Amino acid sequence: MSGRRFAGKSAIVTGAAGGIGRACALRLAGEGASVLAVDIKEAELTETATMAYGSNFATMVADVADRTAPEGIVSRALAAHGGLDMLINNAGISGRGGGVEQASDEEWDAVLDMNVSSVFRMSRAALPHLTKPGGKIVQISSVFGLVGFPDSAAYAAAKAGVAQLTRQMVADCGPQGINVNAIAPGVIDTPMTTERIQNDAWYNEAMIKNTPMGVGKPDDIAGVAAFLCSQDARYVNGQVIAVDGGWLAARYWPRD
Ligand code: NAP
Repeated sequence: MSGRRFAGKSAIVTGAAGGIGRACALRLAGEGASVLAVDIKEAELTETATMAYGSNFATMVADVADRTAPEGIVSRALAAHGGLDMLINNAGISGRGGGVEQASDEEWDAVLDMNVSSVFRMSRAALPHLTKPGGKIVQISSVFGLVGFPDSAAYAAAKAGVAQLTRQMVADCGPQGINVNAIAPGVIDTPMTTERIQNDAWYNEAMIKNTPMGVGKPDDIAGVAAFLCSQDARYVNGQVIAVDGGWLAARYWPRD
């Protein structure tokens, strides 16, 4: 950690009941931010709040894919913390509905709605209230939004949408002094991936063995999200930063 970089600042973190979202919420709170942590999983969200004991930490159970939810989430943050400086659009669902020939309309619609449309709606609701200049939006995309990967048509299209929405938003919001950046994680050990990491031999071969630094931790993403919210990243804007232990860069194949 780098001291209390976010003292006096207010943040919303979606998908904060576990994994990357929990790590981001705890990191920002640990560095002094007032945080509104949002998720659909009430019990685990309460656990996150317990872990943030001593911080100015509020929780809200909400489905961010519900079209009416984002306005309510932003209002709640403003009421609880008196302003809004940072939005971490993290909540997402995994999509394993196959390639284009296999993916059903239902899978496609659900994954696009959750993984990219909710990011658009959360951002739309937050933008009028974000501090200007100085507001920060960090979106969680994926390495699968940057290169093709088998069996992930809807997920990959949604995450590529998040990456491009990030660049697009900079064109619109940059002049107001708002930074919008995205992180594209590689394989990170979270509740979303645990089962695959433990039981999917093909995924281990394609993703994990091929990652020079092996499986990452939620804190590996939270540290970069905090950097992107910090003054050190004042001039970083519209970037999609892969945080993947070298998977994209190396196309590594171990000799064994
Ligand atoms: P996670 O462990 O499943 O955590 C995501 C949280 O968001 C869960 O608590 C989830 O609840 C919640 N959520 C899902 N839909 C929601 C909704 N409609 N409204 C509110 N909350 C909702 O996942 P993670 O691995 O930390 O992933 C976080 C983000 O990173 C996602 O956008 C994911 O696509 C991205 N990512 C992850 C990896 C990785 O390797 N872990 C790699 C690349 C990108 P449920 O559990 O009930 O769904």
